[in-house]
Amino acid sequence: MNESRKIEIDGEILEYSLIRRKMKTIRLRITGDGKLVASCPIRTSAGEVEKAILKNGEWIKSAISRAVAQMPKTSEREYYTGEKFLFLGRERTLLVAQNFKEGVELKEDYIFLDVRSLDDYYRKKKLLDRWYEKQTELIFRQRFYAQVERFRALFPNEYTLKIRSMTARWGSCMVNRNTVTLNSKLIYADESLIDYVILHELSHFKFKNHDRDFYALLSYLCPDWKARKKLLGNKYIYYVR
Ligand SMILES: [Zn+2]
Repeated sequence: MNESRKIEIDGEILEYSLIRRKMKTIRLRITGDGKLVASCPIRTSAGEVEKAILKNGEWIKSAISRAVAQMPKTSEREYYTGEKFLFLGRERTLLVAQNFKEGVELKEDYIFLDVRSLDDYYRKKKLLDRWYEKQTELIFRQRFYAQVERFRALFPNEYTLKIRSMTARWGSCMVNRNTVTLNSKLIYADESLIDYVILHELSHFKFKNHDRDFYALLSYLCPDWKARKKLLGNKYIYYVR
């Protein structure tokens, strides 16, 4: 029996798989892609497993970051014309031009980058990084508050958004602070997938664990969440690293 569960370690929610089988003691391990797997004897209570996880919290956190650091990274950028950049679910082609007035602009499938010196790698990187950051902030806020509006109709409350770069997860939530954190790398995925992550995290404010109630609420808010989850996993996982 393989069960997906959540636990809070130092204010952060960690998802893990719990496997019950014929064995004598609780065992914790981190998979190659940085996921926690707990296995335990068939009759061990979930509380005992949680205790073991909390006791080993420091080891788990460092083992996860070690595993993630060893995963293959996306190739390095060079910032030349024709290079592809993923943005909101589509590959966009970079067009670099020399211009005294610097800036970045998206027009359909093209990203126009104007820079004073075409050879200035760090300047090009900085302009593009800043543009991505600004777009992420803008688009995530817009998507988040649109979904919050729907969620608030069911569960009136204030909800806060945080954005940061994460290595192992698309989103997380701090239940006691009504705060959702989104991985800034979700900007590579299209809007429907960003919405799915938002709705998944919002649903945790009502149901902490991935139990039947949780999935009933998520299915109500996002009927095709399974397809969206699959897309995120298959298509975008390599961009998160
Ligand atoms: Zn979850």
